[in-house]
Amino acid sequence: MGTVGDQLSFFAANRERPILLAGGRIIEAEGQVEQTDILIGTDGRIAAVGPDLPPQPEAVRIDVSGSLVSPGFVDMHQHLDKTGVLRFTPNPSGTLQGAREAFAKYARTAGPEDITRRASQTMSRCLSRGTTAIRSHVNVDKDAGFNGMEALARLRQAWAERMTLQLVAFMTPHPGQDLDWLRENIDPAVGFADAVGGTPAVSEDPGRYMDIIFDAAARAGKPVDLHLDEHLDPGHLHMEAALDRVEHYGMQGRTVFSHISVLSAMEPEAARAIMDRMIALEVGAVTLPAANLYLQARDRAMLPPRGLTRVAELLRRGGQIATASDNIQDPFVPTGSGDMLEIARWTLLAGNLMADELFDVHRMITDIPAALMGLGGDYGLRAGAWADLVLTDCEDADTLVAGGPMQSRVLARGRLVSETATVLPQALAGAG
Ligand SMILES: [Zn+2]
Repeated sequence: MGTVGDQLSFFAANRERPILLAGGRIIEAEGQVEQTDILIGTDGRIAAVGPDLPPQPEAVRIDVSGSLVSPGFVDMHQHLDKTGVLRFTPNPSGTLQGAREAFAKYARTAGPEDITRRASQTMSRCLSRGTTAIRSHVNVDKDAGFNGMEALARLRQAWAERMTLQLVAFMTPHPGQDLDWLRENIDPAVGFADAVGGTPAVSEDPGRYMDIIFDAAARAGKPVDLHLDEHLDPGHLHMEAALDRVEHYGMQGRTVFSHISVLSAMEPEAARAIMDRMIALEVGAVTLPAANLYLQARDRAMLPPRGLTRVAELLRRGGQIATASDNIQDPFVPTGSGDMLEIARWTLLAGNLMADELFDVHRMITDIPAALMGLGGDYGLRAGAWADLVLTDCEDADTLVAGGPMQSRVLARGRLVSETATVLPQALAGAG
């Protein structure tokens, strides 16, 4: 048989026999690397993990010694109903409000086939780069109706053998869209969804709006994932009111705040008090460096801020903070490769993290978002989890994040779904 990739390709495609990935180097909890075998069952799940697993006569043995094995990447904040509309949605102001208006206009004509095609392309792109779980917010409002929700719910089912897709009912308040419509439609939307979301800062009545969201989530027993305070004006703060509702509706440990850019614009002491309350209530955070860097601070004539939340402080205070893509090639963010390692690098740079925090950034695209999404035992390098793996030629998690691989293979549910390699000319490869 040819290369390791050929073997993986052949055997990962058929589920008749288990696969023993022998001698890979897996990333442990503290960042150290251990040589370990992984047995993958015919159901696409990891059957056993350990050094020198006993011979498995029925299993196909594939030698992956030298490869670094990471669990699949988790991109816990995307907008698959919006992805790929860049060319059709000019946003001359380059601002968040400009992007909202541009997409609202487009959404009125976006049918299910269009949404399915664009979302599938982005999901394929992400999967090929190692992302095996995505949480997507999906607009539900008077412009989009339920088109996005219905289309993506079908994709969630169609892709279940390759990827975990979670949907957030993103109850979007555009100007003039009264809250009564959202209140009347939230229960059917939540019926499609894995979580309930919204964006209080642009609502005409943020308090009532948040009550509608938290109440629907609590009644349905589903978590909350808010776009919260995606701006830099401390006079326009909604974090305290949102935390009050976490307590009131008993949503501790089941709530995530995305963006919370405003924390960076607050006095350190006031920001710390809010961060400590978030941590005490087990409220997770998601930073979205691409959108924040692109959309924020266009009105500043000098020294524009980065627009991200207090990433380093949240992380170092023990907060659960993940990082994610947000928008991919739409009026909110015109770029986006679907590569979580790119997002990880921007998080480290724009979040002012330190070189010895490269491993923490790896956790921000793996274990932390997996926990915040509630993936539980389905995720990770452990028996029982899906065999969603990224095998690379990197030394460790630090170098994986810092520079990325020259060679990578992605397994989803135990099957090879992508293989990429940079091939150097002989003369270069051999040059010392
Ligand atoms: Zn978003």
